[in-house]
Amino acid sequence: MSSNIIKYLDEVHICPHCEQKLSCCHAPAIHVGDGLGWGAEVLFICLNDSCSLFLNGWEKIEQQYGHHASYRYMELPESSESNVMMVGNADAYKASVVDPKELKKQNERHQKQKKAVEQLETCVTEKNLEPALYLILDEAADVIQRKKAVSLLTQINDLACIDPIRNHTFRDTSLEMAANQALQELLKNNLQKECPFCSNLVKMQAKKCMHCKEDLE
Ligand SMILES: [Zn+2]
Ligand SMILES: [Zn+2]
Repeated sequence: MSSNIIKYLDEVHICPHCEQKLSCCHAPAIHVGDGLGWGAEVLFICLNDSCSLFLNGWEKIEQQYGHHASYRYMELPESSESNVMMVGNADAYKASVVDPKELKKQNERHQKQKKAVEQLETCVTEKNLEPALYLILDEAADVIQRKKAVSLLTQINDLACIDPIRNHTFRDTSLEMAANQALQELLKNNLQKECPFCSNLVKMQAKKCMHCKEDLE
C-alpha cells in the first residue's frame, strides 16, 4: 500500500479559504469497505486551525444541525474539486497526517524485499548469497520467500551466511529450524564444523580448535 501512496507526496493542494497548503492524510479506514468512502487512500485536508471555514463552521453547524462540529476543507488526490468534511474537534485527522520520511523508508524496504525475491531466481547460478541472506534475516519479509531462501543456502554454498544466521533471532521457529538444518548441511558439504567452545569454523576432522586451542575430542 505504501508504494501507492508515495506518488501523492509531491502533490500540492492549497486551501481556497486560508491559502494554506493542505495536509496529506491517510483516509479513515472505517469508510473504505462500507461504500461511504472517498475511494482514495489519502485525503488532502486543511488542518489550519485559523482557517475561516473551520472557524466559522462551528456556528454554522450548531445553527443548522444543533450539534458541536465544524468543517475542514478537503480535496481528493489528483483533483482540485472542493469537498468539506465534518470534524468533531480540532485534532481530528491530525494524527493521520502521512509522514513522508516513514513512508519513504517503508517504500525502500518494500522495494528491497521485492528485488531480493526476484534475485532468488538467479542467486544459485550466480552464487549470490546476498538476496537469500537478506530475506532470511528480514523478519518483515514473506515467510514463504524466506523459507525458499533457506532452501537455496546449500546450493549457493557460501559459508559467509553462517555467522549472520547464527546471530539472528527468528520469530518463526519452523524457519529457524530449517535454517539450522541448512547450516548443518552446508558445513558437512564443506567438511567443516563449528567449534563448540568458540563457534569458529574448523575442519571436520580437527582434534583441536585452531582458534581457541580447545580439544575437540
Ligand atoms: Zn484552510
Ligand atoms: Zn574453538
